[in-house]
Amino acid sequence: MQTDLLSNLTARPLCCDGAMGTQLLARGLAGGACGMLWNVDRPADIRAIHAAYRRAGCDLITTNSFGGSAFALARHGLGDRVDDLNRAAAQVARQAAGETGWVLGDVGPFGDFLEPLGDTTADELLDLFRAQIGALVAGGADAILVETMSDPAEAIVGVEAARSCCPDVPVIVTYAFQKTAAGEFCTMMGTGVREAIHRAIDAGARIAGANCGTSLDLEDYVELARQIVGAAGGTPVIIQPNAGSPRMEGGRTVYSATPEEMAAAALRLLDAGVRIVGGCCGTTPDHLAAIGSALKTRTT
Ligand SMILES: [Zn+2]
Repeated sequence: MQTDLLSNLTARPLCCDGAMGTQLLARGLAGGACGMLWNVDRPADIRAIHAAYRRAGCDLITTNSFGGSAFALARHGLGDRVDDLNRAAAQVARQAAGETGWVLGDVGPFGDFLEPLGDTTADELLDLFRAQIGALVAGGADAILVETMSDPAEAIVGVEAARSCCPDVPVIVTYAFQKTAAGEFCTMMGTGVREAIHRAIDAGARIAGANCGTSLDLEDYVELARQIVGAAGGTPVIIQPNAGSPRMEGGRTVYSATPEEMAAAALRLLDAGVRIVGGCCGTTPDHLAAIGSALKTRTT
């Protein structure tokens, strides 16, 4: 366990890491295959990805456990591997984080809608998340990152799961926002910034913000950050943008923001009051090195 994340955050802005999925594909993960198996079968590759982000200057690294609920793993026939795959995810990240880095135990959407849109009840989801989060913390996670959320109700269950099984471990919630034709930010479920952020913080999230998102450019993330900081009322804010707005090229999704552009955006995010900046889709260790260097120019 590293020194307290929240007290460090008041001293200086911190740099989170970037995308995991693209790094796995670059190392040969087949499209559609379960990347979490690599936590056990190819831990050296996962450690190398984390180590590249640490070398880039990232203070926080995120475990390879985005689809780590039993519900999501069952799609790969791995529904009974929640404990070992999540525990291994945290262990390998812990090794790469070293003495001075923090490990965020990553919890993505469980893979379906809660009732009444889907078939899963909040109690069932609580059990799914508790199993995943318990394994992540047992493996050495310093905090839990409930990310890419669209439904505040799902985010809240994530917070409650962490607080009930690991009350000393801080929980971070980040939502994926999109921009409406009217220029307003909301999640895929139609929830606006204030409601989404308030509900996460009221449930006990110690840090809140946004990651990923649909077709947001770097300018959008800066405006979104202003709104989130305004809604968060003093709770620290994390923003993990994609590498710009994606475009399709020959059937592939391409993110084209350069490291320099992301570094410039990172400084504007800090000016908006953000305390942790990382990256989401399309970001690489090169992007994070530029962001990390930019953050280091600000010492408070
Ligand atoms: Zn993303």
